[in-house]
Amino acid sequence: MDFAYDARTEELRATLLDFMDSHIYPAESVFRTQVERLDDRWAWDSVPVLAELRAEARERGLWNLFLPGEHGAGLTNLQYAPLAEITGRSAALAPAVLNCAAPDTGNMEVLVQFGTEQQRKQWLEPLLDGTIRSAFAMTEPEVASSDATNIATRIERDGDDYVLNGRKWWITGAMNPNAEIFIVMGKTDPSADRHRQQSMILVPRDTAGVEIHRGMEVFGYDDHDHGGHAEMTFTDARVPASNLIGIEGAGFAIAQARLGPGRIHHCMRSIGLAERAVELMCARADDRVAFGRPLADQGVIRDWIAESRVRIEQLRLLVLKTAWLMDTVGNKGAHTEIQAIKIATPAAVQWILDKAIQVHGAGGLSQDFPLAAAYAGIRTLRFADGPDEVHKNALAKSELRRQREAR
Ligand SMILES: Cc1cc2nc3c(=O)[nH]c(=O)nc-3n(C[C@H](O)[C@H](O)[C@H](O)COP(=O)(O)OP(=O)(O)OC[C@H]3O[C@@H](n4cnc5c(N)ncnc54)[C@H](O)[C@@H]3O)c2cc1C
Repeated sequence: MDFAYDARTEELRATLLDFMDSHIYPAESVFRTQVERLDDRWAWDSVPVLAELRAEARERGLWNLFLPGEHGAGLTNLQYAPLAEITGRSAALAPAVLNCAAPDTGNMEVLVQFGTEQQRKQWLEPLLDGTIRSAFAMTEPEVASSDATNIATRIERDGDDYVLNGRKWWITGAMNPNAEIFIVMGKTDPSADRHRQQSMILVPRDTAGVEIHRGMEVFGYDDHDHGGHAEMTFTDARVPASNLIGIEGAGFAIAQARLGPGRIHHCMRSIGLAERAVELMCARADDRVAFGRPLADQGVIRDWIAESRVRIEQLRLLVLKTAWLMDTVGNKGAHTEIQAIKIATPAAVQWILDKAIQVHGAGGLSQDFPLAAAYAGIRTLRFADGPDEVHKNALAKSELRRQREAR
């Protein structure tokens, strides 16, 4: 077993680490100021510093790193994992700069895997080029959406078109006017088998009957830096039948295929976020003096620092193993491990952020440090791409099955 990264990964890591130091970290506050000055506060693709950073990232070969195969950088999951981790250190900016941000990444993967030539030309190419953004619309307010078979939005065939009716919420990125295309999940045949009722279809933002109502808040944050999460409706929204992705009834299977890589990307980035939290925690513990001693001299704080390091190392090994499995036996073969990292990572990183906040005192809760916003962000990951309990339920089912077979 070799724990070293290969030569290509090391080379890209060095380039990315340099880019983070020279461009990303210094731009974080500039980006925030420029976003605040926008006329349309959601139009953050139009922030000047973002365009400059994107041009520089491309120039350095740091573009579409997430995408294996000919359409992207051609990296394996194992090669991409340590790079995604680095981008997670500046989660609001770096992934978007490198054209590696969710939900565009998952949407591009769907188009690569299941799109027609025409769909790829029209939507995949500008997404790969970073000129447009996209959203993925599955979750609905009226039904428990962790069980995707509940999705009630209708996609009905009418001549050469499909007509959509339904309400969605938590649609990440959809507040951003540059999100020109939505992949929408709905039911084409409610009488079919439970997992064959759903389909996915491409709906351009400017389709008549598509309406964005509001951005959802996370603990009072609007999650603006991630493009917000929209509540939206489709009212007799009509698109050509050629916009269907794959065949009718394939929606559930496509959703499953889409979520594997998405989940591991989230976990990789979260580990980078945890590393940054530990850096902040240690710096603050060394600097701050209470009762005559730096906080770093207190046993309880050393315990948090040590625990954080142990948890990060454990998580990283499991994430890298999962990436390796995805590369060698495929996403399906790595299913259990993908569930395991999706359960373990957000909870552990939430714990680390909580301790980093505690070490910072009340300041840790404030806008003066990135920790409170990061905490809100990581808490959402215990829902996004499936709640913890659903993953635990599925993992336990497969473990029980394995144990029964072994007996
Ligand atoms: C920040 C953020 C971004 C998101 N982005 C998107 C997006 O871009 N597109 C999109 O379509 N959706 C998005 N979502 C929605 C997300 O995918 C859903 O919130 C998630 O699937 C859960 O669905 P629900 O909220 O309807 O919860 P419900 O389905 O109502 O579940 C509620 C709770 O029930 C419990 N539960 C459910 N099933 C089980 C079980 N089998 N065993 C035990 N307990 C169970 C769990 O505790 C769960 O949290 C996003 C969510 C967040 C927070």
